[in-house]
Amino acid sequence: NESSKKNPEATTSGGGKPNGVFLDKDGKPCRACTAFRDWTKRGKKKESSQHKVEMTTKEGNATGGDIANNNSSQGLPQDCPPDSEQLGRATWTFLHTMAAYYPEKPSSEQQISMRNLLSGFSQFYPCWYCAEHLREEMNKIPPKVESRRALGKWLCDMHNIVNERLDKPIFDCNKINERWKDGPKD
Ligand code: FAD
Repeated sequence: NESSKKNPEATTSGGGKPNGVFLDKDGKPCRACTAFRDWTKRGKKKESSQHKVEMTTKEGNATGGDIANNNSSQGLPQDCPPDSEQLGRATWTFLHTMAAYYPEKPSSEQQISMRNLLSGFSQFYPCWYCAEHLREEMNKIPPKVESRRALGKWLCDMHNIVNERLDKPIFDCNKINERWKDGPKD
């Protein structure tokens, strides 16, 4: 596809875990596609004038960092552009919260709007390889917009697909209301 052609084989290794600094379509490093820890490694290399953008090739030759540490955005100054993980957390927060407040019985117009929103979102999500994966999954399992419950479950399943690829824990979708709307029971 278009983006992987323009980015020199920047992709994710076998399980989908990103490694190293990813390039954007213009060939420049893409912060929104890169974990902060990998970005800072790049910075160090640059200082030593040995800099070469590190990436994972389609064959899986990872030359960048690993994804073991969930908190890689820690240390990212507050006024810095988001890294891939900060952007991911903020986006999931928005999406799950939006689903939690979506009408229980949406009108046809509301269902169309939600479908359009999700379709547009999957085109423009700034981490291009995340967006590519998402579009693939959405083709396999189209958004379910007929009710709040259906949308919340669909989104939870989508998030779990990403969690699985990143070796993160699978979330119990029975708990989406508690997590994203009502809070824990006292
Ligand atoms: P996050 O995964 O961001 O989750 C935030 C919180 O949501 C969790 O703390 C938990 O309380 C809750 N939660 C977790 N799972 C669920 C669920 N299934 N349903 C409801 N709530 C849940 N990163 C990549 O490296 N590669 C990718 O291909 C990729 N694709 C992405 C696609 C999309 C559409 C988005 C929005 C993000 C993507 N990301 C990707 C980012 C990644 O999913 C994480 O957001 C990021 O790694 C930070 O993870 P985290 O551990 O802080 O928690």
